[in-house]
Amino acid sequence: MGVIGDPIAQAKTPGAINPLFAARGADIACIPLHVPASDLLTIWAGLKAMPNLVGFGITLPHKQTAVDLCDSLDPVAARVGAVNVVRRERDGSFRGYQFDGKGFVRGLLAEGIVIEDRNVLLVGAGGAAVAIAFALVEAGARGITVSNRTTDKAEALAETVNAGFGRSVAKAGKAVPESGALVVNATSLGLKETDALPLDAGLLRPAMTFAEVIAQPETTPLLSLAEKRGVQVHSGIHMITGQVGLIADHLCELWG
Ligand code: NDP
Repeated sequence: MGVIGDPIAQAKTPGAINPLFAARGADIACIPLHVPASDLLTIWAGLKAMPNLVGFGITLPHKQTAVDLCDSLDPVAARVGAVNVVRRERDGSFRGYQFDGKGFVRGLLAEGIVIEDRNVLLVGAGGAAVAIAFALVEAGARGITVSNRTTDKAEALAETVNAGFGRSVAKAGKAVPESGALVVNATSLGLKETDALPLDAGLLRPAMTFAEVIAQPETTPLLSLAEKRGVQVHSGIHMITGQVGLIADHLCELWG
């Protein structure tokens, strides 16, 4: 198994999933593969041509491009419009799957964080945000306000989610959390030390929960500020641990 991305040195999936393959007695090992966007098509063909490659994880910047490269898509990946795992099926074809949303929700629940009946402020409207929005509604969130630098994308995300569930559960809005909200940073702000904060830390209150998608660094500047304000915090690392078990089972189902 590979994990493709650019950059790739930060990828935490190999370290997290390899012990799970070992524990399942599966003859599978996951390695990071540095794949620049300009070489994706060539490398994709190479991956396809390797008969003992059971699949690969996908990280930035290939998740959306992969939708068009896969031979078929799981309904969740099709709905989200992004693929984060490709599995070689028995007929040799590449099918695209999406575990980001499920992984995020599993990570929250494993830490005892309540989702059901809660208002969510989702900051960001990229691939991760779309996956998380669907998964949070499925897990019982009461309503989602999507706030994004590019407001058109926040509106489009809310419309997609509302269309998917056939009811008005998401709306675009300002990055101002309601009392007791679950606040999620689903932007890439926080990856670099010099990044601006995704939202005003002064708006966070102790009754809220602040959850990150960013796993590296494990403590982003906003997570640290939220913690100092007495807010329950949740690192992006849990989104990875929440999904690697699912991905290991998924690959082992065919190739373990
Ligand atoms: P996308 O590129 O699809 O989306 C990026 C988002 O960040 C957009 O909402 C974008 O806003 C926003 N953004 C980027 N730069 C800025 C800025 N300077 N100011 C304001 N907003 C900004 O990326 P993904 O959704 O795929 O990934 C987002 C983050 O999630 C990444 O950091 C990634 O590492 C993390 N992630 C973590 C996972 C985990 O398991 N822990 C799994 C998947 C992702 P705009 O639309 O205006 O450009």
